[in-house]
Amino acid sequence: MTDSYDVIVIGAGYGGATTAALCAKAGMKVLLLDKNNQAGGKAQTIHRRGYAYEMWPVLSLPASESRFHDLVAELGIEDEAGLIVPEGDKAIELKYLRSDGEWRSYVGPSKQAEDPLALDRLEETFGVGPEDVEKMLAMMGQIFTLGEDDLDALDETGMLPWMRSFGVAEPVIAYMSAMLNLIFVAPVDLIPASEAVRTMRQLFLGGGGRYHKGGYGRVAELAAAYVEEHGGTFLTGTRVDKIIVDDGRAVGVSTDAGEFRAPIVVSNAGIQPTVLKLVDDESVPEDYLKWVETLEPGLGLAGVRYFLDEPVLDTGMIVAFSDESWWDTERYEAVQDGDWPDVPLVFAAVVTEYDPELAPDGHQIILVGLLGSPDPKADLNREVIERGEAAIAQMWPEIGDHVIRREPYTAAAVSNMTRDAVVAGQGGECIGLSQIIGQCGQSKPSARTPIPGLYLVGTDAGGYGCGTHQAVDSGFNVAAMVIEEWKAAVTV
Ligand SMILES: Cc1cc2nc3c(=O)[nH]c(=O)nc-3n(C[C@H](O)[C@H](O)[C@H](O)COP(=O)(O)OP(=O)(O)OC[C@H]3O[C@@H](n4cnc5c(N)ncnc54)[C@H](O)[C@@H]3O)c2cc1C
Repeated sequence: MTDSYDVIVIGAGYGGATTAALCAKAGMKVLLLDKNNQAGGKAQTIHRRGYAYEMWPVLSLPASESRFHDLVAELGIEDEAGLIVPEGDKAIELKYLRSDGEWRSYVGPSKQAEDPLALDRLEETFGVGPEDVEKMLAMMGQIFTLGEDDLDALDETGMLPWMRSFGVAEPVIAYMSAMLNLIFVAPVDLIPASEAVRTMRQLFLGGGGRYHKGGYGRVAELAAAYVEEHGGTFLTGTRVDKIIVDDGRAVGVSTDAGEFRAPIVVSNAGIQPTVLKLVDDESVPEDYLKWVETLEPGLGLAGVRYFLDEPVLDTGMIVAFSDESWWDTERYEAVQDGDWPDVPLVFAAVVTEYDPELAPDGHQIILVGLLGSPDPKADLNREVIERGEAAIAQMWPEIGDHVIRREPYTAAAVSNMTRDAVVAGQGGECIGLSQIIGQCGQSKPSARTPIPGLYLVGTDAGGYGCGTHQAVDSGFNVAAMVIEEWKAAVTV
């Protein structure tokens, strides 16, 4: 091991692992560090008591033609990566509680755009008429056809008012908003229509619900291994305490395992932890520091992991909701004041439906997520779980008969595993910096920081889209910037 590198990447989440592997591919000497014992960050796969699973539901959007496909192709690891794009007519279930109290289900393929029965099924599930369908089609038409300039112009328009401008029926608003809440984990009124439309387009064309053979974190593990196989080092269980800045430039990191030097440092630790904790205040321009302090984290997800002694559910990805379940700012404030919806928005990843080998023969793993607070200390999340489990017992009473282990989690676990809490109420956000107006599109923080040699990668900067896809997108874009800077320095 050498203590001097071309680039140091702090964090082997999907953003960091992607940049590190691509830099290694370009011939750079890479040090990739993570405080955890393996790569994958929020989407890592753990192995415990005979089961392999993520700590919470992680499924990908788009399912096909994604940045993950680009990554595994770039690294030549398609075969080991085993991207599982769901096939067949039973890939996704939308479970909707109608206003008359009846649960209806839409079960369909991963790509709704390829489902000839989608409109009939949506009409039937949501109880809407042909006039409503017409309005929905007008909205879909815009989703598919708006050009880049038109989309940029929607950076300051919230997705909820944008959808309402088409006059679509409340169940359609509920369906779209439930999906948007899960994709962005932010209040629907604040998600910019520009980001939402681009991502919904990916969902309808590329489908939803990709998973990976051996667990979702497998691709990040392979990317980290790629770094080692290409002359770099992957240090696990190593926490970065400080980014070293000399003469105004990032030049290395200090860790619990010693100091390491490189002319370029990339941080996957999150913009707020990086700027407010890892870099000394005097190295950061005051206005940048103040602006970073004001940034808003996304919402959190809290939930439960269920391990069953036999399969109960037969769809890999399930989203359950009513007209009341989705959150905009008003509804998020209402639940904080104790005013709860009839049923919460339930997201379930039945990961053994994708890869049965994750569990002992015939067992089933169901990972459930429910909208919650990003605050690791929030009491709200305990109530979120109670209400979520009551809804689950109502929808699938058989689960209770077969549970052999039940593991609840809240934003505190998310923060412990990944992002340090450095601002009040932040740390356990599901995705990262909130994808809301003022923090997205053209207002998205730049991956370049004001400190020369210091870049940000991951969901806070440099990419767009849903969760892990956004992290990998950022990983590609930041790798390109880093490689360009490295080549320019080598040429000089
Ligand atoms: C409950 C839940 C459900 C989710 N569901 C989905 C889903 O269905 N689909 C989807 O696409 N996304 C989902 N996500 C979001 C997705 O997992 C994240 O947005 C994405 O993985 C973030 O990637 P990242 O590279 O930005 O950062 P992270 O995954 O947060 O990785 C950052 C890494 O940096 C390391 N690190 C931080 N600080 C230090 C330090 N000081 N020293 C060393 N290492 C450090 C951390 O240990 C971590 O490994 C979910 C997240 C949660 C919490």
